[in-house]
Amino acid sequence: MEIQSDQLLPMSKKIPLTGISSVAIHTSGHNNAEYAHITPIFATSTFTFDDAESGMERYSGKDKTRIYSRWGNPTFTAAEETIAALESFGITNEDGTALQLKALLHSSGQAAMTTMFMSNLKAGDTVLSHFALYGGTNELFKSVLAQAGVNAIIIDMRDLNAVEDVIKSDSSIKLIHLETPANPTLQCIDIAGISVLAKKYGAILTVDNTFATPYLQQPFKYGADFVFHSTTKFLNGHGTAIGGVLLGKDLEKMNTTVWKWHTLMGGNSNAFDAFLLSQGMKTLEIRMDRHCSNAMEVAHFLEKHAAVQKVNYNGLSSHPDYAVAQKQMRHPGALMSFELKGGLQAGKDFIDKLNMCVRAVSLGTLDTLISHPASMTHSGLTPEERQKYGITDGLIRMSVGIENLQDILNDLDQSLVD
Ligand SMILES: *Cc1c(COP(=O)(O)O)cnc(C)c1O
Repeated sequence: MEIQSDQLLPMSKKIPLTGISSVAIHTSGHNNAEYAHITPIFATSTFTFDDAESGMERYSGKDKTRIYSRWGNPTFTAAEETIAALESFGITNEDGTALQLKALLHSSGQAAMTTMFMSNLKAGDTVLSHFALYGGTNELFKSVLAQAGVNAIIIDMRDLNAVEDVIKSDSSIKLIHLETPANPTLQCIDIAGISVLAKKYGAILTVDNTFATPYLQQPFKYGADFVFHSTTKFLNGHGTAIGGVLLGKDLEKMNTTVWKWHTLMGGNSNAFDAFLLSQGMKTLEIRMDRHCSNAMEVAHFLEKHAAVQKVNYNGLSSHPDYAVAQKQMRHPGALMSFELKGGLQAGKDFIDKLNMCVRAVSLGTLDTLISHPASMTHSGLTPEERQKYGITDGLIRMSVGIENLQDILNDLDQSLVD
């Protein structure tokens, strides 16, 4: 039996699903020739044709996921459909129809981001972005896009008037890139506010939604044109694979220009990692609920601790972007950073004393991860840049896990010396 690729698309449910766990669990799967309940790992580089005619047909169609795996693969499709359904969940277009998104799975968040920038920018264009971006994004701007003739302007985007002044004064700005909340001080940018400016001046708006996940924040609702994730983090959730996804609402562009850059630069995923991602996403909502409730308690605990100078968590009313986080996020999330009164030495002592929490970079895994941005994730910045972005030498970053809360608090308490 020949299964057409559209049979792999989510079956339209007679009664619309009301929550994202249902969407995450039921969007794809069990529509395969073998009736496998879970979408199999299609570990194959290429796909066969019954005859010359069917080969020609597959080549001429828009869906190329059954020709060659650099172009797509049914295991990728399952993950892509789920992410597209999550990012578009409950969002309608201006005419009242449901928002349709196209997702392209990549080998990493960096690959998804590279496709996004390269397919939307050319030499002579400028990208406008903000401080304290993910280290890899910052380096991509400085050392890769710069060499391709794309300039980057980095400003504080929390003042919309200042942003407008910059956009107005430079007609080469073709793309505005946001990362909100941003690493490691959890600064937030008003997506809807920036979107108004992007539309007014004809710029594309892109958002890195890695920290929030579609459960906590849906940038397309606020006017984003493209969204990408490092699926390595909360979407996979278990720390088992590096991956990325790029989503767009201009389906024609996604299926032509963006697809071309994606496939020709070779940033494709692989069936095993796509499978791990699909399994991870099924528990996104319940994991995030626990990550978030633990994080809120940890933030309150740290805020009151005698050894702690300052806590950066956008769920605390003391955070400068608390109101923006409340406006566009379901919950402020599971990332935070904090400063110890004893500075750098106290930071090192704290990290060395940890008993259960894990010393590692990355984020969004089941276990609590603790790192030191100045010497790890943000060591690529100059000391001046770090100072400007609030990344002091004693700053500790924490990705709060889903362990039992009391064990996280106990470990922090015994590691903090007042
Ligand atoms: C990890 C991360 C990336 C890069 O993703 P990789 O999967 O490591 O390539 C980009 N943005 C943010 C916010 C990240 O946390």
